[in-house]
Amino acid sequence: MPKSSARGLTPIQEQYYRIKGNYPDALLFFRLGDFYELFGDDAKVAAETLQIVLTAREFGKREKMPMCGVPAHAAERYLGQLLAAGHRVAICEQVSEPGHGLVERAVVRVATPGTIVDPDLLAAKEHTYVAAVVRAKKRVGLAYADVSTGEFAATEIREDAEAVLAAELGRLQPAECVLPEGATLELPAQPQTTAVSQMSYAAWHFDLQEATSTLLRVLGVATLDGFGCADLPLATRAAGGLLAYLEETQKSFLGSLDGLRTYSLDSFMGLDPATLRNLEIVRNSRTQQEEGSLLGVLDETRSAMGGRLLRQWLTQPLVDVAAIEARLETVEALTQDRVVLERLREQLGKLADVERLAHRAAQRLATPQDLARLGRSLEAAATIEELLRASTAPPIHERADRLDPAPEVAALLDAAIGAEPGEAPIKPGYSAELDELARRAQEARAFIANLEAKERHATGIKNLRVGHNKVYGYYLEVSKGALDSVPERYMRKQTLTTGERYSTTELQDAESLILNAEEELSALEQRIFEGIVESVAAEERRLRALAQGLAALDVLAAFARAAARRNYARPVVDEGDCIEISEGRHPVVEAALEGAPFIPNDARLDAEQQIVVLTGPNMAGKSTYLRQVALTVLMAQVGSFVAARSARVGIVDRIFTRVGAQDEIAAGASTFMVEMTETSYILTHATPRSLVVFDEVGRGTSTYDGLAIARAVLEYLHNHAGLRCKTLFATHFHELAELEGTLPRVKNSRVDVLEERGNVVFLHKVAPGGADRSYGVNVAKLAGLPRPVLRRAEQVLHELEERQLRGEPAPAPRQDGAGQMPLFSGPHPALAALRDLDVDAMTPLEAISALYELKQKARE
Ligand code: ATP
Repeated sequence: MPKSSARGLTPIQEQYYRIKGNYPDALLFFRLGDFYELFGDDAKVAAETLQIVLTAREFGKREKMPMCGVPAHAAERYLGQLLAAGHRVAICEQVSEPGHGLVERAVVRVATPGTIVDPDLLAAKEHTYVAAVVRAKKRVGLAYADVSTGEFAATEIREDAEAVLAAELGRLQPAECVLPEGATLELPAQPQTTAVSQMSYAAWHFDLQEATSTLLRVLGVATLDGFGCADLPLATRAAGGLLAYLEETQKSFLGSLDGLRTYSLDSFMGLDPATLRNLEIVRNSRTQQEEGSLLGVLDETRSAMGGRLLRQWLTQPLVDVAAIEARLETVEALTQDRVVLERLREQLGKLADVERLAHRAAQRLATPQDLARLGRSLEAAATIEELLRASTAPPIHERADRLDPAPEVAALLDAAIGAEPGEAPIKPGYSAELDELARRAQEARAFIANLEAKERHATGIKNLRVGHNKVYGYYLEVSKGALDSVPERYMRKQTLTTGERYSTTELQDAESLILNAEEELSALEQRIFEGIVESVAAEERRLRALAQGLAALDVLAAFARAAARRNYARPVVDEGDCIEISEGRHPVVEAALEGAPFIPNDARLDAEQQIVVLTGPNMAGKSTYLRQVALTVLMAQVGSFVAARSARVGIVDRIFTRVGAQDEIAAGASTFMVEMTETSYILTHATPRSLVVFDEVGRGTSTYDGLAIARAVLEYLHNHAGLRCKTLFATHFHELAELEGTLPRVKNSRVDVLEERGNVVFLHKVAPGGADRSYGVNVAKLAGLPRPVLRRAEQVLHELEERQLRGEPAPAPRQDGAGQMPLFSGPHPALAALRDLDVDAMTPLEAISALYELKQKARE
């Protein structure tokens, strides 16, 4: 880009370069009248992303500069698209009135992907977070903010920091993550979700001292003690750095923060990103949509605030029995009073996004429509409070005390704000001064409206007419033929080819009256409106507390509604060591079956029955069963009723899942590697209070390796003193059923099928004992595999079974000694593997890869 005025830049072009020079990493929206214009490379990027026309404009001597523009009134939409594509946009406004000389311009906001506030661009039921991460000595500080609601929180992670951080970021799904310069963030790839955009920010902002003083200054407090971050230096550093970043990019955001919330991840059940994904908590893994996920089934919320909170609750189940019971109490009371429940939901449906509206007021961004919506929401909130108070059920009644519908704010908005679109923003009757001005303007307008008839009568000019234009204001127009009848008192204003335009003293007076009145009117209106916004902003904290109370109520009502509609039961949650589910169902599969019966199944995991090894044919329902147990535990600890006849859940501290073969090839790891990494993570992190779900461990490798690993994992889970986590282990290795005989806390279950003349019938019924065979060929038939292939498969299967009966080497593992695989002791693993090779059954390719594996083993 040309930089010097020697190249013949105009003052405005120089101004452009000066401003652009300060924002090299952002696209510059340069305000020119009614448009934001972009130039040079910015224009190319924007035109490409927004699919708008790229033109060129003279810029300096003989320079043509690419250029494109977006109309200012529609800017937010374009802005949203650019942010969604991961760009930052600096918005440069005209900051002085246009007059003589160059209009002053300045950047007023740098919009970044995590800092969208426009309600039209925000997903109503999702938060948009910007996060910051600081690391030191294996610890991590994490802070995040939602610029649209003013939420601001921080935590410090001390153990297993990177994995917990990944989990927490997986839960928050920030649009943007700010890091001290030089730091990077490696997050596990989330299939099909938008990537976190990482922003580097000067490291000194994250120094403890600097961060503390930023927090003190911006939050307007003398000490941070009240926020509980005294012992959390990393949380403080992340929070301070984030605030500095927001201060730089979001000038209007900061005034409205009502403090920092520090939280501990110990208050919640641990759910890593893989588990959230595997259990399909907030989106299903096929389409990544909310439909077909647990959230989709339970989302009976009526308000955007409730929707956001439900999402948060589902990803942060509690571990405190009392807190869970408090939620369950209310849900139960609501299921028992359907009339109150439905009335409540009706009122909840009338709520606008109080949280975001209050925040917009605090940011001084609220429009009259925003305040009108807030006013209507407060009316609904008052009705909700009355409804709760009138209830005789204590859990419902008591919630009323926690809900303050801010009646003074409601009264103010009701009295002051015109509710209908097109109406004046301030209601008549609110301000006598305003009403008087309006009356005067109205009178003057009426005077002019009557003037035409009056003057026609006085002058006898039949076609005399009163008109108005922008340049000359009001006038009396007389056509050429009637000019002789024009009286003395008429003063000529403008000559036309067809006649003349005049004014009179009377008309001038009325006109200036109107002009003054209207000017005063709009100035006063503006002043009054700002005053009201101010009053609302002063109550932001209270309104936000109300919003949170309403959101919680909405979620609890949603649980009650889902429970009633889908026949869920209240779980018993206690500190005990037992998970016991009677006639449990999978909430999402059941909902998708739409009327077709879902076969319920029992489950039990406790000190005697720590590990359940589940076998059964493909398609029998193993995965469904595993997940339904995990989902039941999760729902119970969220405070929801569960899809079962009854359930007892001893608090679980974490749920781990190792499920299926996710396609992680894009992330640069083989299926098997991912499986092993996840397994290793579980074995090193589970506690006796954890619930572990393994689906088909060892599937990603050869039968022998797979079986050996699966078995070793099971033995480890059973025998390791510090582990002893409750485990559900689905497998297609029927040989593993033998472990029941040697490991006392292992129990076998199988999913039954019936075989009728070569066809399988899925019963989906879980019964004690191991399965005898796979029915894989039968299931393949259902999938429509060509007949010749099926026939051949049956033949091979038959031969293999015959061989096994005759005691010949067959692809089943040999036992040795006490039933242990010689994995950790005995001959060298390479030798053992070599002995187990079935050379006759191998293809040349398999032989080569076996050789490689042997060589690898020989090195170990
Ligand atoms: P594979 O080993 O091939 O992965 P699987 O044993 O894990 O199979 P699932 O995927 O759990 O089988 O279940 C297969 C299908 O059977 C499900 O999609 C569901 O529609 C149905 N199903 C599973 N369990 C039940 C049940 N209890 N009642 C009714 N239908 C069920």
